[in-house]
Parts: sequence; C-alpha cells; structure tokens
Amino acid sequence: MGIKVAKFGGSSVADGIQLTKTKAIIEQDPDRRYIVVSAPGKRYEGDNKITDLLYLCKTHIEHNLPYDQIFQVVADRYMAVEINLGVKADLLKYFDEIRENLKKNPSSDYIASRGEYLNAVLVAAFLGYDFVDTADLIKFDAKGKLLMEETDEAIRAELSKHERAVLPGFYGSTPDGEIKTFSRGGSDITGSLVARAVGADVYENWTDVSGFLMADPRIVKNPKQIGKISYKELRELSYMGASVLHEDAIYPARMADVPINIRNTNKPEDPGTLITAEGDGNDEHIITGIAGSKDFTVVALYKNMMSSERGFVRRILGILDDYDINFEHLPSGIDTVSVVMANEQINGRLDEVLEEFQSRLRPDTIDVIEDISLIATVGHGMSSRTGTSAKLFNALAEAGINIRMIDQGSSEMNIIVGVENKDFEKAIRAIYDAFVE
Ligand code: ADP
Ligand code: ASP
Ligand code: MG
Repeated sequence: MGIKVAKFGGSSVADGIQLTKTKAIIEQDPDRRYIVVSAPGKRYEGDNKITDLLYLCKTHIEHNLPYDQIFQVVADRYMAVEINLGVKADLLKYFDEIRENLKKNPSSDYIASRGEYLNAVLVAAFLGYDFVDTADLIKFDAKGKLLMEETDEAIRAELSKHERAVLPGFYGSTPDGEIKTFSRGGSDITGSLVARAVGADVYENWTDVSGFLMADPRIVKNPKQIGKISYKELRELSYMGASVLHEDAIYPARMADVPINIRNTNKPEDPGTLITAEGDGNDEHIITGIAGSKDFTVVALYKNMMSSERGFVRRILGILDDYDINFEHLPSGIDTVSVVMANEQINGRLDEVLEEFQSRLRPDTIDVIEDISLIATVGHGMSSRTGTSAKLFNALAEAGINIRMIDQGSSEMNIIVGVENKDFEKAIRAIYDAFVE
C-alpha cells in the first residue's frame, strides 16, 4: 500500500457540504492515509474564518471585553457539522476545556490553534481515523524556530503506530509545552512536514482552485493553469505573494523528494498542478507565472565612491539587524544601494531607521519611495531567451506604468520590478497579456 498525505484547506472543510466532498475524496483512494486539516474557512463571500474569530476572542480578552458570544459562534459552527453529518465527536467536552483555558488569558497562538485542533477531532471521528495531535510532534525551539529534524523524527515515530490518522495543521509547541503556530496559512507547512516524515508518494494540497494559476485569479481573469512547476519556481512565486501554498511548505517535501500536487476539492477530477524538482521540461510559455505584493518602501542610498568604501553594506545590514528588519531586496549600483523593505517590517519606524542610516552611513543623499509594490515574473525558460526583459519593460511602458525599481535575480529565473501601489493590478495584467495572451 502506498502513502498519500492530503491536506485540506479552510474552504474544503468549511461546512458539512464541503466535508462530505472531502470524505469522498479520501475514501476514493485507500492510499490517502494521513490527513491534515485547516480550521474551517469561509463558507461564502463575507463569512468569517474560524481562525479570525479566535484571534478576535483574544483581542476581546486583552481588552477585558466579553468574548463568550464570539466563542459561541465558533462552537456553533462545529456543532452544526457534528449534528448535520451525524458525527459522534463529543465536542462539548472539548469546548468546556477551551472555555476554562480562555479564563486564564492564554497566548494568542494557543487560542488560534484551537480552530485546527477541534476540526481535526471532528474530521477524525467523521472518517473513522485516529486523531493525532501535532502539539507534541511539531517542535519549535524556545525562540520559536522550527526544529526540522526533531519534528521529522517525532512525526515518523508517532505515525508508525497509526495506519490512518487526522492531524491538525498550523501549530506545534515550544520546549516548555506552550503552543506555537506558524504564520497564517501554515497548515500547508504541517502537511509538508508529515509528507516528508512518512516518505509519502505525494503530498496532496486540496484547496478551492484547480492548481497554481499563472497569476492571481482575483487580478487576472481566467489565468491559465500551470500543469507542472519546479519547487524553485513555486517557492519564488509563493514568496512573492501567490498565496495558494505557504512558501515554507515547499522545503520539507522537497528534502524528501515528495512531489506536491495542488488539487481542487470542488473539482476532484481536475489533475491540478504537480510540483517536482524538474518542473516542466518544455516551456510552452517563456514565463511560468507572475506574483507580487503591495506595501514596500525603497530607501536608495547614494554615496560618491561607495564602491571603494569597505563595509558599507555590512553597516546597512547591522542597522537592519538592530531594528529586527528583514529586508526584501538589496539591488546595488556602483555608488548606490537600495534597501527594499516591507512596510510591515518597518512597522512605523521609518524616521528612526532613516536617522540611523544618516548618522552611521553618512551617504550623500537618501531617497525614499513609499507605497511600492513588488512584482516577480518567474520562469526557468527566461534565461535562455533573449529579449525577455525588454518585453517586460515594454509591456509596462505601453500600459503607462512607471517602473521605480528593477532587480534581476542572480538565478536568472525571475525579474522583479517595483511599481507604485496604484499600478499593481494594472502591471500584473500588462505582463500577463504580453507573455501569455
Ligand atoms: P486554503 O484555504 O485551501 O489553504 P488559500 O486561500 O490559502 O486556500 O489559497 C487558495 C487561494 O489562493 C485561491 O482561492 C486564490 O484566490 C488564491 N491565489 C492567489 N494567487 C494564486 C495563483 N497564482 N493561483 C491560484 N490561486 C491563487
Ligand atoms: N487556519 C490558519 C489560517 O487561517 C492556518 C491555515 O489555514 O493554514 O491562517
Ligand atoms: Mg492556504
């Protein structure tokens, strides 16, 4: 018997109707033995994700506001499924335990994690699989860094005792036993860790689209689907904002050479996107995909003879380190360096950071460009074709878009441009039309 690890995202487990589809998919292939679930997501436009409601509970607790009604809305959603599907999961006792803990003002990670926890208990009962909690398996160090090898061993040891199991996504724990979550969308990472540990034949990631599309479907109408893509290309696209799969979900699967297959719970007959080391050998299109995100700031430092001044970049990095800022890009010229940072990282401290740059680097000028979006155009085929960048820049020029920054990765697998936030969607459409349509 083979082993498939299947992770079902929020929309695939949002209610009884979706869970019925999920169950049919699992039962259709006996190899689907290890199931990772997210918390229930939105059932319709404007609905709440369980995880968001749980974070809201925490906010209320912190402000000494009543939160029981919000938690009741959460509990009711699970209860509705339990009743509608006739599952016997005995959820009331779990709700009581969580309610008791909420009185003690627990961490927001603990509260958020209960969405996945309750759902895994429920889905395990629905499928007749064992419930295996990931709290004891996914291990973080005291600083919150994932301990990859310890986690791998723990999952492998535990799952060797279970032929079939449902595991909650999104969280693990630190050495002191405190629950610790990944960043949002992190159930994808749990699925990948499980797939690696059990040496799965494939890691199936079931969601609400039939695989990776060449651009965000909320920006480009009916973008073409990507049949095959390499881990590297995918990481590039996920990192840059294509939110289908968490960017950190690629590494564990890749380490064990487990292919990742993105599938659609609402259209299980679609083959979806297959992610492997090679990707698509033949490139019908020069590019594989386009992804991006908004809200970056570019600080361009200019200093005469910078190129001969030793340690300039090191000092920049030192300042960023002092402020705990992860920079995004660092494109440089002979006498210039630009530091591209996400606004989220700057976190309202731009003036302070600029003062540090001024006093510790003594540049001749500092230019600041705010409200920048970064757009990555990614593809293995790009390096082997001449004129790819020209085509990209032309497309943007023709659409009347001003390029504020360019960074061509050394991998030659991507070109990143910075445009103003207001031009973000327009720029993605222009690039898509130029290369794909
Ligand atoms: P899940 O809850 O199953 O984890 P997500 O919402 O995290 O699902 O990811 C799926 C969503 O990602 C899709 O509904 C789509 O709107 C969005 N998305 C963004 N970029 C892309 C892309 N390039 N291809 C496909 N979907 C994309
Ligand atoms: N439920 C979590 C979130 O909404 C994790 C996940 O769905 O992957 O971010
Ligand atoms: Mg997701």
